[in-house]
Amino acid sequence: MLVADRKLKCSLCDKDAIVRIPYAKLRLCKEHFSHYIERRVKEAIVKYGLISKGQRVVIGVSGGKDSVSLLYILNKLSKEIGFELVVVHIDLGIGDYSKKSREIVKSLCESLGVPLIILDLKELIGYSLPEIVRRVKRPACSICGSIKRYLLNIIANELNADAVALGHNLDDLITFITKNFVLQNLFEISKLGPKSEGRDNLISRIRPLYLISEKEAYLYARINNLPFIEEICPFADVKSFEKTLRETINEIEEKHPGFKISLAKSIARNLQLYKSLGVEKPLKHCRVCGAPTSEDICSFCKLTEKITGRPLGGEVREKIREYIRSVRLVATV
Ligand code: SF4
Ligand code: ZN
Ligand code: ZN
Repeated sequence: MLVADRKLKCSLCDKDAIVRIPYAKLRLCKEHFSHYIERRVKEAIVKYGLISKGQRVVIGVSGGKDSVSLLYILNKLSKEIGFELVVVHIDLGIGDYSKKSREIVKSLCESLGVPLIILDLKELIGYSLPEIVRRVKRPACSICGSIKRYLLNIIANELNADAVALGHNLDDLITFITKNFVLQNLFEISKLGPKSEGRDNLISRIRPLYLISEKEAYLYARINNLPFIEEICPFADVKSFEKTLRETINEIEEKHPGFKISLAKSIARNLQLYKSLGVEKPLKHCRVCGAPTSEDICSFCKLTEKITGRPLGGEVREKIREYIRSVRLVATV
């Protein structure tokens, strides 16, 4: 996708095109590009059965381009389709990066009039992400991902939500899918479709940006003047294998437009096949906090026990419950 020559006209109207989309053979002006992205997100929602009328959807918004674009689009669609949206932002305590992210999410939610729940990791467990990373010998992103999954699932349960919407875009998914293919973790690919079905108290996770590329999400946020954090998280590994894969995939896309979307659609069609290549571990309830886990004790309780000497899942759940009760009074979630 390239920014088009100003002299070229939009394929759908007389205005100047601002973008060329090779895989769709389209040049679009600002308005038509926005409509095009919104329409494709809606199509993914309908095609993959991600959200239905009357449902309540929790959306995790970090403040990055993907999640703010997703929030903006889902907020529009919530009125059209008729579902309820609750935003959750998790403040990881990563210095200025987290402060800016938090302010961005707050201001966007205020301007959209969407209920927002902010969870502050330091307030919840006494440690920020950088403090945890110093104590635990695991990659920061793996710790961060597991904390966010745990907290979003608790909130979704407490709010009786039907789904947790994630801002994973097409590039993220194709990169994870390709990595798992290269490593021959074929069963893992079955978890990278547009929807991971929930089981018991594990709430379904949906990816409405499944067919939207990183560049499209960026341009959508820019065109619609959405605030988003431009800095890269200080823990992001810029030399990672995933980064190299991502660049290689984009080189293929440039030479063969439509490669990423075709692959994503094929994966979505073949999820059952990948599922049959492994055995899903039975879901249990964590002995400490009751959260869904395949072990006796969930990863959050194990992590917090390692850092503080006590598993904190149960206490965190209580704090969140209390917090939601107080938020409800003002935000009518
Ligand atoms: Fe978390 Fe890693 Fe993303 Fe930073 S880059 S927000 S540590 S997942
Ligand atoms: Zn146009
Ligand atoms: Zn637990």
